[in-house]
Order: sequence, then structure tokens, then C-alpha cells
Amino acid sequence: MSGLRFKAVETAISRLNNTTTKETTKPSLNFGKSVFTTAKMKEYLPKNAYEELIETVDGGKAISHDLAEHISQAMKSWAISNGVTHYTHWFQPLTGATAEKHDAFFEPLPDGSAIDKFTASALVQQEPDASSFPSGGIRNTFEARGYTGWDPSSPAFIYETGGGKTLCIPTIFVSYTGEALDYKAPLLKALHALDKAAVDVANFFDKSVTKVYASLGVEQEYFLVDLALFNARPDLQLTGRTLFGHMSAKGQQLEDHYFGAIPERVLAFMVDLEQEALKLGIPLKTRHNEVAPSQFECAPMFEEINLAIDHNQLLLNLMEQVALRHKFKVLSHEKPYADINGSGKHNNWSLITNTGVNLLSPGKTPKNNLMFLTFFTNVIKAVYEHADLLRASIASAGNDHRLGANEAPPAIISIFLGSQLNAVLDEVETARVVKKVKAETLLWHGIPKIPELQLDNTDRNRTSPFAFTGNKFEFRAVGSASNCASPMTVLNAIVADQLIEFKNEVDKQIKKGTKKDLALLNVVRKYIKESKAIRFEGNGYSKEWEEEAMKRGLSNIKTTPKALDVYVNEKSEALFERLGIFSKREGEARHEILLENYYKKIQIEARVIGEIVTSLIAPSVFDYQNDLITNVKGLKDLGFKAGTYSSQANLIERISTHINTILEDAEAMRQERKKANILEDLRDKAIVYDEKVKPYFDKIRYHLNKLEQIVDDRKWPLPKLRELLFVR
Ligand code: ADP
Ligand code: MG
Repeated sequence: MSGLRFKAVETAISRLNNTTTKETTKPSLNFGKSVFTTAKMKEYLPKNAYEELIETVDGGKAISHDLAEHISQAMKSWAISNGVTHYTHWFQPLTGATAEKHDAFFEPLPDGSAIDKFTASALVQQEPDASSFPSGGIRNTFEARGYTGWDPSSPAFIYETGGGKTLCIPTIFVSYTGEALDYKAPLLKALHALDKAAVDVANFFDKSVTKVYASLGVEQEYFLVDLALFNARPDLQLTGRTLFGHMSAKGQQLEDHYFGAIPERVLAFMVDLEQEALKLGIPLKTRHNEVAPSQFECAPMFEEINLAIDHNQLLLNLMEQVALRHKFKVLSHEKPYADINGSGKHNNWSLITNTGVNLLSPGKTPKNNLMFLTFFTNVIKAVYEHADLLRASIASAGNDHRLGANEAPPAIISIFLGSQLNAVLDEVETARVVKKVKAETLLWHGIPKIPELQLDNTDRNRTSPFAFTGNKFEFRAVGSASNCASPMTVLNAIVADQLIEFKNEVDKQIKKGTKKDLALLNVVRKYIKESKAIRFEGNGYSKEWEEEAMKRGLSNIKTTPKALDVYVNEKSEALFERLGIFSKREGEARHEILLENYYKKIQIEARVIGEIVTSLIAPSVFDYQNDLITNVKGLKDLGFKAGTYSSQANLIERISTHINTILEDAEAMRQERKKANILEDLRDKAIVYDEKVKPYFDKIRYHLNKLEQIVDDRKWPLPKLRELLFVR
């Protein structure tokens, strides 16, 4: 009965002392080796074509057909010289995964020979048979065409897998009618809007600014689990999280895992991953243990946001692939284990000009840095105005388990600034003279050789979903499995919109005769006043904050189906349409896709639970119960008194109660599912799944976990959490 579990544990244990760390190459030597970088373009393109390309890209213009022809030839030569045989348009449909369809360069000729061919049109546009990607009703079956279009702002790269090498060309994915069917197209539109709006505002201070780009540094948290153990858990296999399992006696309570020594087998995986990532130009810089056992984090250095998001998607693929080599499975789910920390994906975001200035860097005298204050308060105001939209942008079935679960930010969006900047804003608001805030320094009294450390003047508050951390904002509510393009499209859009409004207000005052600096300060102060409710420095996990937030009028929508409503309200639709990011139809389509994705995830989990309890758990439990019955009967036959087997008898009863409750609940849940399935309206369906089906998960889990502690360990069929978390 429990054969698979023990075999899996044995297999996992046998791998523990088998680590061979690969020889590492100097990271800088390999960096970008598999990327068609600007340097490589220079090498492979004719001189004038290269110059034209640089001019076109710098000027933000579209690439001409002739130039595309040159680039396709250069790309082909470079790829083939690196052993590449196929190429693919690489895109990010709304499934959450990345998609690719490979075509060979190879083309047979009539005379029986063959050539390698790759043309400008193959580079620029493709029509994948895309009818099975989610479109939210945009692509009717009679017009099921979808197009991928080359995104020259993200370089092509070579991806190696299964011995094959493929040239991957990052693309957007749109319908025949030009509507976005992916994550990238709306992001690029939002970035375009932001660039223009931010340049206009930056020009108040510095006329030489001609471009503003958003930067993004993504911290990726994940769990690792041995491959054999993973495969012995149908819930992990099919849903990415454990639907049952009693927490092992030792979990994370000793707080001994965070930044602890990395297990050797895991380190070998990380080293391998880093080497592969560097080749693909992903600047992975940090790696460490996270808070929960078997939880880790890696983070690349920040990059231009579109590239950073492509790199994060690529990194997720790469992690899966490299993990398999090490017989690990990566769990990128937001909450693989109920009773320990979940995983997030902190999005560190800032605005940087073509002149190299970080617009969110306060400098030594933030109060006198009016440019910083302008951008800083515009971001705060934007988040205040559209907190609900930001909340919606990170909503998913997985993240619902994490948000507010005592280690992750709550579902209430608020901004943490730190005491120093809060004081600055207060002072600016009331326009009293700002007292000098001294930069504090830590002194290392009596410890020789340790240099003075600069105390970070931005405090740390782990409970805030949106925190200012020195020279950037960190959006922490993003879930580990999500595509950052969704929250980043929203963030960049709302900031763009706010900056446009800001400029209008300032211009109006200037027209009326107010001096520019005063006009800027006036609007900044107005924004500080208006957006005060979003600022919160306290403990985001506390009950008091929930109450306080409600008084402040901040919303606290805990579940996805309702959080998503805001995508299709008038305010958001107007915002998206104003900025040219989504049409009303595209917004509605996206809303539908998200609702559908939500209920399907819950539906799958419910099915998996049903199957596991009836076909795996119940038989093992009955088996053990029969052992007990035989035992009691035997004792009775031998003439023992009832008092001598009362414990066993009691166990028989407890087992009956638990397993019976479980089976009854599983059946009741099935009935609720049937009712939900006939609902036509997707929002209704998602809500019923959330409110009527999902509550059974915890009920069943509770009784099942009780059984796990009673039933003979040798008969328990599923690897236990202790095994999943600590055999590594
Ligand atoms: P922590 O865990 O302390 O938050 P990490 O070092 O793990 O910090 O991650 C910080 C991330 O923020 C890194 O990816 C880093 O490159 C990024 N970052 C630093 N400066 C900026 C910036 N100006 N814009 C965007 N991201 C930034
Ligand atoms: Mg962080």
C-alpha cells in the first residue's frame, strides 16, 4: 500500500551524499554568451545597418523591412555558428507560462539539396496556430488567428534543452484585430505612456531628459523538493501545493533556516542555475535560504523592466530545467505548505532617466530635492487612487493563500515610507522648516578591523505590501508564480496617468502666473495631503490595522473573484482606455480569463482531494483499522477484560469518526461542485467555487491530518511534510 512513499523516501535519501558540484567558469566570461547582444549585432551586421539600428532604437522608431532583413541574416549567422537548428517566437500568453513553436532553419530545395533559411518576415511576424490559448472571447472560433510580433527591445537568445538549441525571439501576441492576448503587449503600451508622461514632468527640472524607463529587480522565492517525493504526491504533481499533511514537529519555529548554510545538494543546483542564467544574460547576483525549510530565493540585478520581466519568465523555465538535472522539483506556488511561509516575488521598481538619474533617489537633502519629491509623491498618489487595481493585479488562486497569512503582506494596499521620509513629507505638507535629519552611523566599539557600517536610513517593514526602500519602491504583494507584467502594467499605467494629471495642474498654475517652483511645490503638497490615508508605518499583520484601514476607507478584499471586479469598473476602464493600454473589450476579456483561471484551479484542487481521499487515504486507513479490530478481537477471544484494550477500541472509534467525516465532506463538496459547474456567469461560478467548494478543503485537511498522526506510519501512503521539507 505505502510502497511508493517508502521507495520515494529511499530514493531521495540515496541522493543526499551524491552531490557533484560542476566546475565553475568565471561568471563574467560567460555572461550573455547565448544572447544576441548589441555587441554581437555590431559584429554580425554590415556597418551601416548597425548604425541605422542604433539610430532607430534610440529614436524609438519602428525598424524598417530592409533593416529587419539585415538583422534576420545576422541573427541566423550568429545562431548557426552556435549550433542552432531551429528558431521560435517566444511569447507570454495568458496561461501564465511561456509559449514557443519551433521551426527549422533548414529548407529543402527542388534539386534534393537544402539550405538554411531565415527571412525578415519570419523574424518580424508569425501566425502560430493559437486557438487554444485563453482569449476571453476575443478570438471567436471563426477568426481564431493570433499573431506574434517581434519585440526588438528584448534581445533574441539561444535556449538549450534536450540536446537541441533554439533561437528564441521575444514577441508580443495579439489577435487578428490587434487586441492583446498576452502579458507583454499591454506592458509595452504602459511603458510607452509612462515614458512620455515622466519625460514631460522631468523636463520641469531638466530639459536634457528625453527618455525615462522603469527599472525592475525581481526577488524570486521558491521551494525545492526531491523529484521522487514530488512524484509520490498527486497533489503536488497536479496543483503545485500540498493539499494535506500535518506540519512536521519542527517547522520554521526555531528560525534557523533564513540565511542559514545552504545544503550541498541545493547549492550544486544553485551554482548550475547561475551559470545557465548568466549565459542567457540574466544577471543573477544573490542566493540564500529563505525563512521556511527548503525555501530559497534568488535575485538578479535590476534591469530595464521589459527585459527584467522576460528574464524572470525565462528564469522560471530555467529553474525547472536545471532542477530536474539535480533530481529536484521547483515549487513556485505561493503556498506549497499550509503552515509555513509562502513565496512571493518582490518587485523592486524605480524610474531612471536617459541621463542616468534615478528619479526616486532622495539624495542627501530630500526636502530640497524637488524633482525627487515630485516623482515620489506622484507614485504615492497613484497608488492611493488605484490601490484596488494594484490589489487586483496580483490576485490569483495561489496568492489568496498567501496574502495576509501572517508572513506576507495583507490584502490591504498601503505604503511604508520609513520615519525619515515620512517626516520629510509631513514637513513639506505643513511647510515648516525641516530640521536636519542626521545620517546615523553605527559604531563598532572595540571590534577591530570592521569598517564603519552605514545605517540604512530607510527602516525595514516586512509587513508592508508597498514599501519605499532607499531609492526604489518594493511591491511585495506579488505572488511567486505570477508574471510580473500584470502588476507592472498596472503600476506603470497608474503612475503615468498621475504624472499627466500632475503636469496639467502645474501648467495651469504657471499659466495663472505662479512661479514654476512654487507651482510644483503647491501640487506636491496637495498630493501629500490627499493621499495621506495610504501611508502606514505600523504592523500590517495586526488586527488593529484592519480596523484602522477600514476607517481610512482602504479596501480589504481577501479573495480573487471579487478583487478582480475593479478591472472592469468605469474608473479603471477609463484609465486603460485613456492611456491606450486596454480597450474596454480587452479589459473584459482579461477579466474573464482571470475568473476562469481562478475557478478552474479550485476545481482541479477539489477533484484531486476527492480522488486522494477515496482511492489513497481511505483504503490505507481501513487497512490499519482492520489491524486494530483483529487485535481487539484477539484479545477478547483470549479472555482479556475490556479495560485492557480500551485504547485500541478508542482508536478504532476515532479513526471511524475522522474517515467518515472526510468521506462525507468529500461527497458534499462534490455536490457543491456540481452546482457550481452549471452556472453560466463566470464571476458567479468563481465566487461559488470560492465560497461553497473551497471551505471543504480545510475541513477535510483537518481530519486527514489527524488521521496522519494516528495511522501506522508504515501504512501511510503519502510522503509526509517532514519528508518533503527535510530530506534535501
Ligand atoms: P532585499 O532582500 O533586501 O529586499 P535584495 O538584494 O534581495 O534585497 O534585492 C533587491 C533587488 O532590488 C535587487 O534585484 C536589486 O537589483 C534591486 N534594485 C536595486 N536598486 C534598484 C532600482 N533603482 N530599481 C529597481 N530595482 C533595484
Ligand atoms: Mg526584498
